[in-house]
Amino acid sequence: MLTFEQVELFQVRLPRVSAYRTSYGDHTWRETVLARVVSNGIEGWGEFSGDGPGFSYETAQTAWHILKDYLIPLLCSTQLETPSMCPALFAGVRGHPFAKATLEAAVWDVAGKQTGTSLHALLQRLYPDQTLRTKAPVGVSIGLQPSIFALEVRLEQLRSFHLPRIKLKVRPGWDDAAIKATRLAYPDTPLSVDGNSAYARGDIDRLVALDDLDLTMIEQPFGPDDLYSHRDLQARLQHTPVCLDESIHSVRTAESALRWHACRVINIKQGRVGGLTQAIELHNLCVEHHIPVYAGGMFETGIGKSLNAALACLPNFNFPGDAVPPEQLYGFDLIQNRLDYSDDGELSAPSGPGLGFTVDLKQIKARTQTSLIIRK
Ligand code: MG
Repeated sequence: MLTFEQVELFQVRLPRVSAYRTSYGDHTWRETVLARVVSNGIEGWGEFSGDGPGFSYETAQTAWHILKDYLIPLLCSTQLETPSMCPALFAGVRGHPFAKATLEAAVWDVAGKQTGTSLHALLQRLYPDQTLRTKAPVGVSIGLQPSIFALEVRLEQLRSFHLPRIKLKVRPGWDDAAIKATRLAYPDTPLSVDGNSAYARGDIDRLVALDDLDLTMIEQPFGPDDLYSHRDLQARLQHTPVCLDESIHSVRTAESALRWHACRVINIKQGRVGGLTQAIELHNLCVEHHIPVYAGGMFETGIGKSLNAALACLPNFNFPGDAVPPEQLYGFDLIQNRLDYSDDGELSAPSGPGLGFTVDLKQIKARTQTSLIIRK
């Protein structure tokens, strides 16, 4: 039984090595919240993976408020048989999936450490009839570039890496020519595009014109609430699956999208759907509907990416995921052990107990702006 004596929150600011541009703007730094949960003297860590307020309404500040005033008091006043009870515990708080996922991740970490079991091994128990792989391919994601020349320079910089997939961020005016330039440079590499909601319904013809460019998928061109336009686009595309990301904020939304035929791929981010338990449920729902999924990323440090790496080993993750090494994003990481990236572009699920990392407390404290301890 899991009981919790205290939770410590850290508000952390992480400057990026270089700016990354999406249709939400330039990402030059990231503010996040780390949760350190203590249960019977064992600590577990979780990372707020949101990147608001463009991607979702949640920000580090909203997560801090929801964690401090609602979720942590709930956690400290109860006992759990398993971490998968977290969604029911947090159900009285509407929305705020990234905040909920932060705390649930820390509970999974504690639960694994208490029995010396890795998250990957805990997940394996949920799929007794299959042997989960221990590593999964990850691709590169290229932000919006100021010119085709700048894109060609960026593509050339990637020559030394094995790339299972390239994903281009696109928006109206930066799609067709950028895709063709990438195709020219990498004719055999699977290529997808991600609109991050930058397109409007009136752009459907423009997106249909991309159908002959052999794209693996067109991800989230329209707004999060616009399942209708995604459905219309999917109906008009002969070859290219539509993938939904921002639209899928719960398992039930996913079911609506699938029954509406609004997509043929779903990007699973555990933070966006309220935590690992919901992400597993979403994965299983997609299996039932014969819809493949891929593992999205949100600029997490090694704390968040360790969890994502285990999740990406579930059987229906059929495309390379997003998991840029934290050192490339920030020049450092918040864990002592490096994530295990292979030369052929695969990221291994950590094999250590819990989420499988040892935090770098010195690095965390050096980046912390505010911290707070909440006791039972
Ligand atoms: Mg996306």
